[in-house]
Amino acid sequence: MKKTLLLALGLIWANVSFAQVSSSKHLPIIDVHVHAMKVNPNFASDMSPWFLSNMPGTDPNEPMPKFLSADGAIMLKAAKSDQEFQDELMKTMKRLNMTIVASGDPQVIRNWKKAAEPGRVIPSIGFNSANGISVQAFEDSLKTGFYKVVGEVGLQYQGLSPSDPSVDKYFEVAERLNIPVAIHMGTGGNGMANLTSPKYRASLGNPLLLEDLLARHPKLKVWVMHAGYPMIDEMIALMGANSHVYVDLAGMIWSYPLEEIHLYLKRLVQAGFGKRIMYGTDLMVWPKLLETSIGVIENANYLSFDQKRDIFFNNAVRFFRLDPTKYQ
Ligand SMILES: [Zn+2]
Repeated sequence: MKKTLLLALGLIWANVSFAQVSSSKHLPIIDVHVHAMKVNPNFASDMSPWFLSNMPGTDPNEPMPKFLSADGAIMLKAAKSDQEFQDELMKTMKRLNMTIVASGDPQVIRNWKKAAEPGRVIPSIGFNSANGISVQAFEDSLKTGFYKVVGEVGLQYQGLSPSDPSVDKYFEVAERLNIPVAIHMGTGGNGMANLTSPKYRASLGNPLLLEDLLARHPKLKVWVMHAGYPMIDEMIALMGANSHVYVDLAGMIWSYPLEEIHLYLKRLVQAGFGKRIMYGTDLMVWPKLLETSIGVIENANYLSFDQKRDIFFNNAVRFFRLDPTKYQ
């Protein structure tokens, strides 16, 4: 009788919540894909998640489509100031026992690092082409020890393949210094090539374009941001051939139709890669996006409790070689 009751309680606990029973702390979550940016109140617009459920397209002679829409039932408010965003972020990180990998504005990253508990903000430095930060400055920045990760590497927006020789030296540095690299591959949203990035090519989001880079740098640790969405077969083929490669789910989990997201995630897990999927948001200016995105995984009923824990935490701990006891 007692055993049955305990079992029943256990099942309820496993199904209902990620909050730990032994303490009031939420089970830890690592968000590997956060953008630290200064809030521009003129451009930070509200957003309804899964807004890409409707992409009717436009005519070249008509006004450009809006990139974001905020006409859904759920509307996420954009923060109006850096302080407001930081305060909200810190509050949520504390409540949900979160750690974030943050790239972008160095001052914003420093402010967050100061405001958060030690080790909870992991700074990341990116590059988009050989025309930005020089290889030497990039290496010097990494050697300060402040940055633990390289990303977001946004080559696709500049019309470049990750295997393009013009950026190979950056990857050589990351490989030599043993620093993990996050590369944007795949999704760009509706009309990216028409709107802000005329050099953006969907074809350059093909995960198989990483093959030459990985062959040249066998010790390079790479994760594919946005899981290469929507190129699932190519993503699976690449992960099958290259056992160091991980993915994150950022961006796609709150912008595309929910059913499409679940189909993609389910396929990755079904193909055997449940231990190489990391949780990420692509957080920019909407504080509540954290809860929205976490909810997608929490409510994925085709995933077991352990599979969800892998995605939220265990896989990132393994990938970044972190000490899990520091995050409990
Ligand atoms: Zn991206």
